[in-house]
Amino acid sequence: MRTVRVELGERSYDILIGDGLLGNAGPWLRELGLRGTGIVVSDTTVGKLYGHRVISSLMDAGFKAALYTMPAGEEHKNLDEARKIYEEMIRLGLERGSFAISLGGGVVGDIAGFAAATFLRGIHFVQIPTSLLAQVDASVGGKVGVNLPQGKNIIGSFYQPRGVLIDPSLLATLARRHLCAGFAEVIKHAVIRDAAHFDFLEKDFKKALSLEAPCLEKLIGRSCEIKSEIVARDEREGGVRMILNFGHTIGHALETVTGYRSYIHGEAVAIGMAHAAAIAMRLAHLSREDYRRIVTLIESFGLPVRMEGVSAEDILSAIRRDKKTRDGKVNFVLPRRIGEVFVTNEVGEDIVRAAIGQHSAD
Ligand code: NAD
Repeated sequence: MRTVRVELGERSYDILIGDGLLGNAGPWLRELGLRGTGIVVSDTTVGKLYGHRVISSLMDAGFKAALYTMPAGEEHKNLDEARKIYEEMIRLGLERGSFAISLGGGVVGDIAGFAAATFLRGIHFVQIPTSLLAQVDASVGGKVGVNLPQGKNIIGSFYQPRGVLIDPSLLATLARRHLCAGFAEVIKHAVIRDAAHFDFLEKDFKKALSLEAPCLEKLIGRSCEIKSEIVARDEREGGVRMILNFGHTIGHALETVTGYRSYIHGEAVAIGMAHAAAIAMRLAHLSREDYRRIVTLIESFGLPVRMEGVSAEDILSAIRRDKKTRDGKVNFVLPRRIGEVFVTNEVGEDIVRAAIGQHSAD
């Protein structure tokens, strides 16, 4: 088992990572000092697979707890579903000292965290992330929220959990496409911060894809460490946390242009990272060899590096409309070498066009 400490002063907490930890949920909550009644929020898919295991572990440890399942899918991360969670919290008689557990992917983590942050001005919250993306990314950093028809994650807050419990063995039931998408975030963390971890991923990607336990535990642990170190330095995304957006400028534009239908988030980020690397190479910040290694690693994890059915002009106009574009200046996170990135708003549209052209023809 590994423990990663997220250092945030009095809001610090531990992330525990280990095969089989799910069955230990009850004693873990006791150690965290929680008591009384709680709600376990899950979705229909994950709730059916793992809900009963969590509930019986909580009951055995003396808690009162009930499972609430919402429909699976991003389209349900909205205020209407949040209201249903509040209603269930009221029905269960939850009080200020009660707790909410998210058991699911990033969708469940975001909406359950949002409900926990706002119900009675905040009840205790713990996360049991079950998708790879949620284990290495969404469950670290305290961002919670829901979507509006006008945009993703428009309503939300920062609300740190009391703890995070990661059981990598749960990934055995995750759809392959979602598993690969999670690896995009793992690669992202290596490129922005850790060349040795990148080497490890190059060497052991087959073990990772076949879910070998020691390999998974190591790579999830290292990803959580990298993200939590960055979050600890910049909890509210005023500075260094921006580097976590590596691959997101083009990735987000691609999701917008394709109406969130063609690519899931990790796939769009994978394409965005390949393009950011191409841009960095064209601007002579990144060597051709490092560019090649980044693209090859992305492909090794079964992820796309090219966009299909989308033109450079579509992407450029989506970037111009992006809420993060200010005064026509758009921020790109570019690699200088594997393990080191920087933020710049000095990327001309011609370079973006050329990078997209290079990848379409590649
Ligand atoms: P998701 O929660 O929709 O999960 C993907 C699918 O996998 C769902 O159908 C789910 O039911 C299923 N699933 C999850 N775990 C499973 C398991 N162990 N076995 C079988 N099926 C399983 O999507 P996601 O990719 O986990 O997360 C995406 C969401 O995360 C987005 O809403 C995004 O905005 C959010 N996000 C948040 C942060 C953050 O910092 N808060 C960061 C990144 C992404």
